[in-house]
Amino acid sequence: MASAYSIRKGMARVLEGIMKYRQTLRPSLLEEFKKVALGPSPEGLLLTCVDSRVVASRLTQAVPGQLFIVRNPGNLVPPYEYYKDNSLVGSECAALELACSRNNVPMIAVFGHSDCKAMNLLYKIRNEISTPSNTPLEQWLKVHAQGTVEQFKKLESSGDYKCKLIFASAQHHEDDFEAYIDPNNEFKHSDKLSQVNTLEQLRHFLSYPFLRERLNRKELQVHALWTDIYRGEVYMFSFKEKCFVKIDENTYEKLSHECI
Ligand SMILES: [Zn+2]
Repeated sequence: MASAYSIRKGMARVLEGIMKYRQTLRPSLLEEFKKVALGPSPEGLLLTCVDSRVVASRLTQAVPGQLFIVRNPGNLVPPYEYYKDNSLVGSECAALELACSRNNVPMIAVFGHSDCKAMNLLYKIRNEISTPSNTPLEQWLKVHAQGTVEQFKKLESSGDYKCKLIFASAQHHEDDFEAYIDPNNEFKHSDKLSQVNTLEQLRHFLSYPFLRERLNRKELQVHALWTDIYRGEVYMFSFKEKCFVKIDENTYEKLSHECI
């Protein structure tokens, strides 16, 4: 339980940060805001986790007006049918319409990460995924991450986690795409699950009619990113290499070609 001290400290740190921002970043940020005030033209949407350690706009060095960022536990994309059948709307659905339909962004990417608390929990409850749960977080995972668990179990039952997985892709929706998860065996099992989960979300974009239209017209690209938060490295899924590839000085050119 949070102590009175830590409660005060939480908000005090926010105020402290805002004061620091006023004294340092504000003048340059004001200039950037002016540039986009009249004609913002966002270039993409990142769907990432709520985890406080995932600082997507810093990792991508995004400037104001460049990216929409949607966050939820485990960076999940609920399929469109879920909203239809339940007469519900959700922030992911509304954000996708805002970014992709009303603002015509040309790119969406799911951005997963290592040591994801939501994915660690999913790993723990993976064998009880079909039974209802009493907590909102478990239920959120059980409703929206069943596909992830199904894919992960194929990997797990292969024994050495080296088998090839086949995902249905929004990007290349005429074809499924193949993936090898963590081929160098660098990450723990729950991180492998997190990578599977990031890729599994791509197919859910196809269920959205307004995304499907733009995908069919090839006006929209779909990508998967993943960050190892303890090493500060960011990976992009390469449809050519069939695995997550670390973005660095050696791979940048090659990966850039996949974005054209
Ligand atoms: Zn997370």
